[in-house]
Amino acid sequence: MSSSKARLAALRTDLERRNPAQPEFHQAATEVLDTLAPVLAARPEYAEPGLVERLCEPERQIIFRVPWQDDRGEVQVNRGFRVEFNSALGPFKGGLRFHPSVNLGVVKFLGFEQVFKNALTGLGIGGGKGGSDFDPRGRSDAEVMRFCQSFMTELQRHIGEHTDVPAGDIGVGGREIGYLFGQYRRITNRWDAGVLTGKGQGWGGSAMRTEATGYGSVLFAAEMLRLRGEELQGQAAVVSGSGNVAIYTIEKLTRSGAHPMTCSDSEGCVVDEKGIDLELLRQIKEVERARVSEYAKRRGASARYLPGGRVWDVPCDIAFPSATQNELHADDALALVRNGVKAVSEGANMPTTPEAVRILQDAGVAFGPGKAANAGGVAVSALEMRQNASRDAWTATRVEEELAVIMRDIHQVAHDTAERYGLPGDYVAGANIAGFERVADAMLAQGLI
Ligand code: GLU
Repeated sequence: MSSSKARLAALRTDLERRNPAQPEFHQAATEVLDTLAPVLAARPEYAEPGLVERLCEPERQIIFRVPWQDDRGEVQVNRGFRVEFNSALGPFKGGLRFHPSVNLGVVKFLGFEQVFKNALTGLGIGGGKGGSDFDPRGRSDAEVMRFCQSFMTELQRHIGEHTDVPAGDIGVGGREIGYLFGQYRRITNRWDAGVLTGKGQGWGGSAMRTEATGYGSVLFAAEMLRLRGEELQGQAAVVSGSGNVAIYTIEKLTRSGAHPMTCSDSEGCVVDEKGIDLELLRQIKEVERARVSEYAKRRGASARYLPGGRVWDVPCDIAFPSATQNELHADDALALVRNGVKAVSEGANMPTTPEAVRILQDAGVAFGPGKAANAGGVAVSALEMRQNASRDAWTATRVEEELAVIMRDIHQVAHDTAERYGLPGDYVAGANIAGFERVADAMLAQGLI
């Protein structure tokens, strides 16, 4: 065990040296490496020189120029990325993020997480991620379309149903996937439905894909609660964010009899004592693409808007960080623990800082890491790929049933793997080790590539 620890420590140092100024990637990799010592010590085949090192190095990293014209006729230049991290289990799979914070380190952290997450789904998908520092906020539909067309003009050479299958993430929803798919089809002259997921339902998309990440994160929380002899019914919930993941987390919580009281954006948060009015929130976010402050203005007396406020101060039983990375800090975790939170389920990728994770786990809170808890989105993407391959369209009921089984299985494997390594209740270690075992087994079988 001590030699595995020393090797992992050396690997961490090397990783930081070789990938300078990529703090999010270091954080994501360190969090996984920190949990691997017991598995490397117990299973000598995994200690093979170079295996963990290969896992930390993407198979391919693509960076490209994305020039486009804004509505005033001025030329704008953004940077595009696609990091193809690991394809041992299947074609690279993972979303595209359009946000000004996107850089190579952020895309690498997301791609790294995706490798383990996708392995946990058991659906034969490798891991990758992409995106751009383009900011869709305040841009017209025509500008977003021209940007997507330029982005795809380069990306299309790298993707394919058997190679790399992008989807949405922050800033990339149904509108953007539509523009991207249109340009792909135009350039290649092929109806390759399986080249992108998150498509519209009338043209190759899967029922329930939009809902899947949020619904899955609630299903994961329900499983964690079940093991503690509790259910969702009647639980007070806080949710951060107001994008696709947050909206469908709120919907599923409401349908399950829980009481989601909050949502937020980068400027502040809303607390609604009566529970979030989903129709109003969807109108503001999905139709008007406006801020959550607008929600409080229209909702009436039950809701207050706290500029710069954080949802974690609101007393609750269960919490769903569903906005973005590193949004839940140590002091937020302390506030949650003080208020008696029972479970935290990460709808976003790496939203909880390492210190905050430790505080929650030490306090005995059930903590579902994003790799496991938010895997429902990419799982339904894999189901969309299946439907595309067979030119079929499943009913929403069928997809929702499959999603429920997949989330139960992911919870089970994370839970059981943690127990197997003497770490009961540690879903972080369980998810990392279970994902690692699947990817590592495939890499070892496929030789040195
Ligand atoms: N962006 C989502 C995630 O973080 C989904 C990716 C996909 O569907 O390929 O898992």
